[in-house]
Amino acid sequence: MKNLKLAALQGSKRTVVRIGDVKVGQGFVVIAGPCGVESEEQTVETAIAVKKAGADMLRGGAFKPRTSPYAFQGLGLKGLKILAKARDQTGLPVVTEVIDPRDVSWVCEYADVLQIGARNMQNFSLLKEVGKSDKPVLLKRGMHSTLSEWLNCAEYILNEGNPDVMLCERGIRTFEKYTRNTLDISAVPAVKELTHLPIITDPTHATGKLSLIPSMSMASIAAGADGIIVEVHRNPAEALSDKDQALTPPMFEKMMKDIRLLQKLMEKEGLR
Ligand code: PEP
Ligand code: MN
Repeated sequence: MKNLKLAALQGSKRTVVRIGDVKVGQGFVVIAGPCGVESEEQTVETAIAVKKAGADMLRGGAFKPRTSPYAFQGLGLKGLKILAKARDQTGLPVVTEVIDPRDVSWVCEYADVLQIGARNMQNFSLLKEVGKSDKPVLLKRGMHSTLSEWLNCAEYILNEGNPDVMLCERGIRTFEKYTRNTLDISAVPAVKELTHLPIITDPTHATGKLSLIPSMSMASIAAGADGIIVEVHRNPAEALSDKDQALTPPMFEKMMKDIRLLQKLMEKEGLR
């Protein structure tokens, strides 16, 4: 990939993105929270639960890019204010999606990490705008994008002067319909050999199936990922988006125990 002037791995130096005390690129970082911010109670309650289970950062969308214009679009500014409250109460840094270049500067007042969603991966004006900001960026892979296209999007952000780019493999579209998408687990070691940027996976959107999320999270650790982002809702049946794929707090807690155990084992044996 010849065009990667800034994203390409040169030697052995790898980027570690620091968000407060959290270091993405060292250890295994878990980002958890609801798909969308729906109310203060729902978000704060979920944030407290994921913090208790050992999550490192809180996720939650205030702007939801939905397939239908009639589906829940997110609470916007109100949602960002709720996320800030959840951060105040838990100490968890906030990861939230920005979908419009015009929103970047004021979303930065509330977010600790700006998420670029799969549908916006190649929204070049949005990439340039987050590249000019001083917030770390979580760049999701487009559902129909090659590694080269994806990494060139990271290059757009780096080229504007923002060095803190994290990649997220969130599943790609294949002929398989059993899962919502197909988690391209090989993207994890491939990205590691091509770039110095950290990479996490999103087993929630990749599978769309509760039963598969824990094993795909474990597979992500084994493949060398720097972390995961997963959806957790205090009451998934009530969720306004992605309700079929949200873990309950007890399911998340159980998964976290297994994740930390595998992480520790691999570190002890020098496999990570
Ligand atoms: C999300 O994280 O809520 C989301 C919309 O994900 P993606 O952009 O990967 O579909
Ligand atoms: Mn979602």
